[in-house]
Amino acid sequence: MKHRYLPVLILTGLSLFATPLFAQRTLIHCGNLFDGVRNDLQRDVTVVVEGNKITGIQKGFTAASGADKVIDLKNKTVLPGLIDMHVHIESETRRGGSYDRFTQNVPDVAFQAAKHAKVTLMAGFTTVRDLGGSGVNISLRNAINRGLAEGPRIMTSGKSIATTGGHADPTNGFRRDLAGDPGPIDGVINGPDEARKAVRQRYKEGADVIKITATGGVLSNAKDGQGPQFTDEEAKAIVETAKDYGMSVAAHAHGAEGMKRAIRAGVTTIEHGTLMDDEAIELFKKHGTYYVPTIIAGRTAADSARIMGYYPALVTPKALAIGPKIQATFTKAYKAGVKIAFGTDAGVYPHGYNAKEFEYMVEGGMPPVECLKAATVVNAEVLGMKDQIGAIETGKLADIIAVDGNPLQDIKTLQQVKFVMKDGKVYKQ
Ligand SMILES: [Zn+2]
Repeated sequence: MKHRYLPVLILTGLSLFATPLFAQRTLIHCGNLFDGVRNDLQRDVTVVVEGNKITGIQKGFTAASGADKVIDLKNKTVLPGLIDMHVHIESETRRGGSYDRFTQNVPDVAFQAAKHAKVTLMAGFTTVRDLGGSGVNISLRNAINRGLAEGPRIMTSGKSIATTGGHADPTNGFRRDLAGDPGPIDGVINGPDEARKAVRQRYKEGADVIKITATGGVLSNAKDGQGPQFTDEEAKAIVETAKDYGMSVAAHAHGAEGMKRAIRAGVTTIEHGTLMDDEAIELFKKHGTYYVPTIIAGRTAADSARIMGYYPALVTPKALAIGPKIQATFTKAYKAGVKIAFGTDAGVYPHGYNAKEFEYMVEGGMPPVECLKAATVVNAEVLGMKDQIGAIETGKLADIIAVDGNPLQDIKTLQQVKFVMKDGKVYKQ
């Protein structure tokens, strides 16, 4: 009785040890290949995958020998897995959704987050940066890494950090006795000491990156959508402390003043950037800060605001005023030479439509090849993972997708991803 499971354990143990020795080789025959590095497509290429890594790129269609597995993508264009710098994996917009926080328990959030993650992966996004939720985002990242749930590789900020009444104060609009007095543990700070504590708390909880709401925002139940919400000292304390723990900082910003304070403090990315002025543009370039436009979120929020009762009364006018402006800001920033990273604010629009952003970027004046690089090599660089993801090259992780047609000629084809491999495992074929 005692040893009933022993043979199973031994077998499992053996197969675990045996796997690396007899790792199956997969040959992916690619009709076209966009490798994320070159600007053109390569014709008739074989990508060799062993385990979770790309181990070779060969001209022509290499013939399979022995135990090799072949994936035929001869009539497809193969690309690196896409990367989105701004998602909210836990939540998704819907009419009256602002009441969810009073009705949903943590497991409710977890189940819907798992669904969003799967939809995102199936849309060809193999890595995402999650910029704010309840903490379920950290558990979901861990579950995906352990193979308990299917989704993209997640780099998450855990909870966002705001100031009292600021965009990410989780109790905005609450009755006073329900609101309490949230502090650094909840992601609300006042003064540099609390700023440091909030960053350390995120680190302790397992965040990969820090997110601050440097200005007012559209979807919070608060009046202001653009004013600065951190002092210079607070922003600096955030960035310096994050650096101590090896984390970069992403700053949500609509208004120019809060954006400038965040850039000067040394954040890595500015999210939305709606009311960016010429001085802000110069600061972006001087500090090498990346701009994450999220055009689709602005457009969707404005569209939703036109539906009666979709958002609370305080939110509607902000969504109508700010949402439609982002695309023109994107055009201005791109033409001025600001570095553009691809990010969408998924959750503000339904998860899985992330690639619609490409269409809006092309419409805004960015050539398709640069849009694709923004979502691959550039984003890999922003994440500090350039040696692992963002390109189809020997030694990189096998994050590989495929679409019909030529995305350099028709960017919309990215909205219909036909093949998804993440970390060497096929999820969609
Ligand atoms: Zn966001």
